[in-house]
Amino acid sequence: MINKLVVFGVGLIGGSFALALRKAGMVREIVGVGRSAGNLAEALRLGVIDRFEADTASAVQDADLVLLAVPVGQMATVMASISPHLSAQTIVTDAGSTKCDVVALAHQYLPGHLARFVPAHPIAGAEKSGAAAASAELYRGRNVVVTPMPEIDPAAVRTVRAMWEACGATVREMTPQAHDEAFAAVSHLPHLLAFALVEDIAARGNSEELFSYAASGFRDFTRIAGSSPEMWRDICMANRTALLKELEVYQAQLGRLRGMLEQADGSALERVFSHASEARNKWIAEKNNN
Ligand code: NAD
Repeated sequence: MINKLVVFGVGLIGGSFALALRKAGMVREIVGVGRSAGNLAEALRLGVIDRFEADTASAVQDADLVLLAVPVGQMATVMASISPHLSAQTIVTDAGSTKCDVVALAHQYLPGHLARFVPAHPIAGAEKSGAAAASAELYRGRNVVVTPMPEIDPAAVRTVRAMWEACGATVREMTPQAHDEAFAAVSHLPHLLAFALVEDIAARGNSEELFSYAASGFRDFTRIAGSSPEMWRDICMANRTALLKELEVYQAQLGRLRGMLEQADGSALERVFSHASEARNKWIAEKNNN
């Protein structure tokens, strides 16, 4: 049971964590800290938080758990602002989509608090933003990756694990490097491609006409291009080394397909499509069974 939870960034991710813990009866008081007064007022109105604080020092005072759910480009500012005011017992965790940068920032801005800092990433989300998009059910049946640092107090990891489990999630551990490499391939690259494809159409003189022909295939492929530009700028910048490697691999794959088209090699194209289609169907079937 958490007496006081403080959420920095009461958006989709922070708001959903707050709602889920409240629903599970795991938290007594939830305090929000944010950048947008309108979003905080909405969070209060929707019962996501009990109150909000403009002053960081009083917000984190006597907190049991502080969740940093701001875009990863804001983590440094928030860590620097809470660092002088944290009590020894306060556990700090984050929900950022990249982990090597967050771990490095924790070393820089929270050096005295590393034993109680638990880096985490919930593998759940949507293309929607803000407190109004938050849901108590967002994390049910989903994975959360934690990437604990060597300095960590195991009790802090146990508490953060217990909170995510109370939200209905399964917690897995990875190193920050393994996390960032894996998510560059299966999350960051697909977002970059979706933004690129929509931009390719949107930048054309006849984009309106083209969009009018686009149907469910285009909608499915590009759904994630409706995501927060700020959040995705920050993720791409934070994980750009791993993302550049993935982009290179993907460009080589496109090069192979291009070669098949140039040579009018339909059977080679079909072999790639069959292999990809089988892999996708198997992945979906396994996901549905879990
Ligand atoms: P969001 O835009 O819904 O919420 C972020 C909130 O942070 C906003 O309300 C914003 O006003 C606030 N904020 C920004 N800068 C701030 C600052 N300096 N101080 C206090 N508040 C500040 O975004 P989200 O989808 O909830 O994402 C939050 C974090 O979770 C990001 O780090 C993101 O990478 C990560 N994440 C997102 C998803 C997803 O699919 N949306 C999934 C997993 C993890």
